Amino acid sequence: MEPLTLRTPLTKLPGVGKARAAALENLGLFDVGDLLTYFPREYEDRTVQEDIAHLPADTPVCFAAMVAEPFRTSYIRRGMELTKGKIVDATGQVLVTFFNQNYVRQALHPGQTYYFYGKLTGYGARRQMVSPKFEPEGRCDFTGGIFPVYPLTAGISNHLLTGLVRQALPCLAQAAEPLDDQLRQRHQLAPMEESYRTIHFPPSWEALATARRRLVFEELFCLTLGLTLIRQRRAGQAAVPFVRQDLDAFFAALPFSLTPAQARSATEAAQDLAKAVPMNRLLQGDVGSGKTVVAAACAYLAWRNGCQAALMAPTELLAQQHLGTMETLLGGLGMRIALLSGSMTPAQKRACQAALAAGEIDLVVGTHALLSEGVAFARLGLVITDEQHRFGVDQRAALAAKSGGDLHPHVLVMSATPIPRTLALMIYGDLDLSVIDQLPPGRTPVATYLVHGNKRPRLYAFVRKQVALGRQVYIVCPAVDQEDPEGMKAAEQYGRHLQQEVFPDLRVGIVHGRQKPKEKQAAMAAFAAGQTDILVSTTVIEVGVDVPNASLMVIEDADRFGLSQLHQLRGRVGRGRHQSYCVLLSDNDNEQTRQRLRALAATTDGFAIAEEDLKLRGPGDFFGARQHGLPQLKLASLEGDMVLLHQAQTAARELLAQDPHLSQPDHAPLRRRVERLFRANGDSFN
Ligand code: ADP
Ligand code: MG
Repeated sequence: MEPLTLRTPLTKLPGVGKARAAALENLGLFDVGDLLTYFPREYEDRTVQEDIAHLPADTPVCFAAMVAEPFRTSYIRRGMELTKGKIVDATGQVLVTFFNQNYVRQALHPGQTYYFYGKLTGYGARRQMVSPKFEPEGRCDFTGGIFPVYPLTAGISNHLLTGLVRQALPCLAQAAEPLDDQLRQRHQLAPMEESYRTIHFPPSWEALATARRRLVFEELFCLTLGLTLIRQRRAGQAAVPFVRQDLDAFFAALPFSLTPAQARSATEAAQDLAKAVPMNRLLQGDVGSGKTVVAAACAYLAWRNGCQAALMAPTELLAQQHLGTMETLLGGLGMRIALLSGSMTPAQKRACQAALAAGEIDLVVGTHALLSEGVAFARLGLVITDEQHRFGVDQRAALAAKSGGDLHPHVLVMSATPIPRTLALMIYGDLDLSVIDQLPPGRTPVATYLVHGNKRPRLYAFVRKQVALGRQVYIVCPAVDQEDPEGMKAAEQYGRHLQQEVFPDLRVGIVHGRQKPKEKQAAMAAFAAGQTDILVSTTVIEVGVDVPNASLMVIEDADRFGLSQLHQLRGRVGRGRHQSYCVLLSDNDNEQTRQRLRALAATTDGFAIAEEDLKLRGPGDFFGARQHGLPQLKLASLEGDMVLLHQAQTAARELLAQDPHLSQPDHAPLRRRVERLFRANGDSFN
């Protein structure tokens, strides 16, 4: 085999075929270099401890024990299976339980010794462990040290990823160090190779801290460099300035008056649009805050200035909904509005494309179909995307490229992911961000309750009551295990169980991510049209879909979700005149967890929730960075790394003062690192 380099595609690694490569791409992993910057989400300390009798409770431990008896499986509620058995050593015993993992019956042989890893509860002969990880003695890859836990997706196990990262490490020897000696000395940063090795396979917690510090610095330094380079480039691009700013007719035609937050956002966008450089603004507002009307104001300005606008939605259903809204808001003013979506006939599509090219459509609302080859605009001046995280950034770029000529369209991105603004500004500097931080008047907040699973019968009665009142109900299931990260199995099984055993007389629909698009759409459309009473789904229920008649959202195993996600889900109800409810089901008795969920029940402020989430979970997929085409922070934490951020920003400024385009030959490795950080966004820095 050829020696690995950072750019070797993952398909060249043994064990990575087509299907796995596709799954890895879902994680943003294309080449060997991507693996190295795919950092563990957390670590497991699997240093082996002795004597069951002396193991501490409620904290993860790793120990050796013998299987004392065959494991047995029994069936409990809603397709849940319990597999139980006993393990022992010379000092004590532990009762082990697995949920929905009955394959362990075959994997754990009586009389043999295994290493177990998990949390113990109980005392003495009642010591227990739920779903521990285990490896047979003598064949263990994950025992006796600190091991990485990576974020996963369907078809990719932690075991597989760990193996791939191990294979990737040797190519570090050839890779160039992006941070030069002087910089490293000044900021006391560890060398590259050692840092990457250690972040994946730390020999100790101290070594991990040292490695992490260097890599956080590297990330923040490269982020600052990249953002500055992008800003420089954008300032050099040309857009049509929307000089006519006469929004009065638009405002006068609205069926309501704007909230102050909407008015402010519209003004901010209008100011950008008046410039001859492309706007690139993120419009961020909680679900139901009224982003669409701000987008409509922008489209109106495009029209008044002789330009076309395109509004792209992630799903057919949303596109149709937007079309209706835009027709109400803008149709009466004389704008010509059309739909372009995948479900149209070829003839309909051709007609729409011809009209677009001829400039006979002022605003086109559509799905991915807008990106197809036949689509060309006479004079595209504005691109609006809704719920951007459903689009690849290349796709947005592809649409922008259809403007024709050297002019770049203005871009407005709408997102409902709350961004703690102060933090966003600190990291991303002059990020162009408008926030709608208040709801339109007259909304009744969703009443939220935290309910224990043993109250299920009462909950079912409540579901019935809502349906009897003519309302509809969402039930959301989380992923139950690593093999099924989208919770698809859970939704299928639970949906069928509810239909057959609990609500045989009601109409139950099921939606999850692995259904064919047609099936999924049909299930969503049936619910939207009131033809099903209960919709059981994974978290894929369409973002932004508006079913005002839905008044109850039930979230199963709510403790498995992040607070922001719960808040987003809750936003599916409370859109109509009816008092709405959100029930968070959780059997988790951990006091901290219940507190967290109670906090959600007590507030409806998406920003407060986002801040809380950030404290609890770190940045990860937080504040809509991706929606804005910004790289996500993979490592840096906004809570803990502010000092490093400051240092990195200063260092970046100093470097760019001396080499404004990072074009000096000795900065090539650094430039490549910056490009890698931004690559997922399709940005280049030329
Ligand atoms: P989102 O920000 O979730 O996209 P929408 O733009 O869909 O929210 O608005 C949600 C609902 O609120 C819509 O039915 C819209 O007509 C209504 N709405 C928006 N702004 C106002 C306002 N200022 N006053 C009253 N109702 C409003
Ligand atoms: Mg919306």
